[in-house]
Amino acid sequence: MLSGMVKRVFAVFILVFVASAAWAQAPVEYRLSFPAPEHRWMQVEVKFAAVPAGVLQVRMARTSPGRYALHEFAKNVFDVAVVNGKGQPLTATRPDPHQWDVTGHDGTVVVTYKVFGDRTDGTYLGIDSMHAHINIPAALMFARGWFERPARVTFVQPRGKTWKVATQLFPTTDPLVFTAPNIHYLMDSPTDFSAYTLREFTVDDGQKRAGPPPTFRIALTHDGTEADADAFATDVERIVRETIPIFGELPQFETNTYTFLSTYLPWASGDGMEHRNSTSLTSSGALRNPQQRQGILGTVSHEFFHAWNMERLRSAGVEPFDFEQADMSDDLWLGEGFTSYFDSLILHRAGLLPLDGLLGELAGSINAVTLGPGRQFRSAVDMSRMAPFVDAAASIDRTAFPNVFISYYTYGSVIGLGLDLSLRDRSNAQTSGDQFMKALWTQFGRPGQKTPGKVSTPYTIDGLKESLAKVAGDRGFANDFFSKYVEGREVLDYARLLGRAGLVLRKRAPGKAFAGQVQLQAGGSALRVNGLVPWQSPLYKAGVAQEDQLANLGGVDLTSMAVFEEAMAKQKPGLAVPLRFIRRSGEIVNGTITLEEDPRVEVVAIEKTGGMLTDDQRRFRASWLTSQRQ
Ligand SMILES: [Zn+2]
Repeated sequence: MLSGMVKRVFAVFILVFVASAAWAQAPVEYRLSFPAPEHRWMQVEVKFAAVPAGVLQVRMARTSPGRYALHEFAKNVFDVAVVNGKGQPLTATRPDPHQWDVTGHDGTVVVTYKVFGDRTDGTYLGIDSMHAHINIPAALMFARGWFERPARVTFVQPRGKTWKVATQLFPTTDPLVFTAPNIHYLMDSPTDFSAYTLREFTVDDGQKRAGPPPTFRIALTHDGTEADADAFATDVERIVRETIPIFGELPQFETNTYTFLSTYLPWASGDGMEHRNSTSLTSSGALRNPQQRQGILGTVSHEFFHAWNMERLRSAGVEPFDFEQADMSDDLWLGEGFTSYFDSLILHRAGLLPLDGLLGELAGSINAVTLGPGRQFRSAVDMSRMAPFVDAAASIDRTAFPNVFISYYTYGSVIGLGLDLSLRDRSNAQTSGDQFMKALWTQFGRPGQKTPGKVSTPYTIDGLKESLAKVAGDRGFANDFFSKYVEGREVLDYARLLGRAGLVLRKRAPGKAFAGQVQLQAGGSALRVNGLVPWQSPLYKAGVAQEDQLANLGGVDLTSMAVFEEAMAKQKPGLAVPLRFIRRSGEIVNGTITLEEDPRVEVVAIEKTGGMLTDDQRRFRASWLTSQRQ
């Protein structure tokens, strides 16, 4: 009896094991076809197999990795039909705008739908006769609770096309079929299906690896020449090689490739979106236009830095990424801000951005942060928490953002500059912001890569502080830096820090009168104030607000911008000047405005100011700004 019992129990265990293994391994199968790409829609079939009894909750994402606001991708879905494994129709109920609840199935549920997409960028879906640029969350349904299941994606060639697939999805022997180890990874895998131009290169970072060094692929869809593509590939490789020394090594890219999905077409929208083993780069600019090309390379540099800082070195606030509600992180000042600081630094070190260009960017960011009124209300951590409202978020009401918000990209980049220079300053260039990034990578990034699509050791702000204490060799410095400049609202002494590198931070218009940074629009007999008047600026204190009209300054009728500028040039900072303006209600106000000195600064190399670069400054500048490539 005992042996019989044991056998039966054993048999039951086997059955359960086989059933659960099949349940765990049945991939979600997607079939993407393009019957009429010129009309900007894609046909999708999703097959969910081994569905447990009960309700299958099929959803469209509301968010997309690397984006922090809600995007409500279900709005573009239409013509939805659901059938069981025998092809018999099933009804789906709609508990919310994003979800289809399917019951009464036979263990298989097949959902078909069309999805419209006419925005080529890193967030949405862009389909036309030239390509399908697919951000997966904008296009593919998923089942709630099924994120550990693998996926299999089949692309169907549009009639008459010979498109190729560029993606970080795992390849199979069929060039139109790909897999993902789990749905997290699928959602993170933007895909370009087009007749793109391919450029490839390999980079050996000198680390011991099981296989060959990784391959970098550039899948380029543009309206330029082969020579444009070659020159672009050369510069992308320079950026890749200049980034590696900061972290000391390349990440372990799954499938041993990293793909730049680069789409530069007049109708594309400017965007760059980081992913684990790829990036989606889109612009309406062209590689042949030097100015537009500079912007394009800046985005390449920014997004590639994210392969470490964001994709693998990741804030606990956005891991795992939530596809059902807005994701909030305390640390976008690091994830986006430090990435912005280093993207320009890398371009400069790689010889792709001249010193004047770099200094212009630094001065612009310092102005935005030190003078931006938002800092009176929010720290860099607080600004990061605003991302769900500002990161390509749509709203129709006016906000006070120009007065109460500073982009965490800019704020964080200025903190990055300040930290880099402070570390160099206090250690005589023995340590640096580069060393800080490497320490973060060692502590959080490298060990966290156990499953593709997931980060197992995301950081918290305390962990960041700990790493800084180690790099600086001084816990007090780390605590002080975070409490003043990251969690607090103070700014560093940039003039002194830049001075170490022989760079002069000075007023850009000394002695010039300043009313506040506002957009004025000429028209008729007065100048209309477009946009919010900056908090506590001279115009603000004078009571001037958005949509008011400036009529007369110091006795001069303001009939044009030229007249206004001439009138301002005659004034001096500190003077109280009569100002007549008309409120949007029609009320005429005869008041006064007390002008201030233009507070904006510029950063200039000391040798361009008639000064002398000392040997110490030269060394400091060189260790900071010259190429770090071995
Ligand atoms: Zn970014």
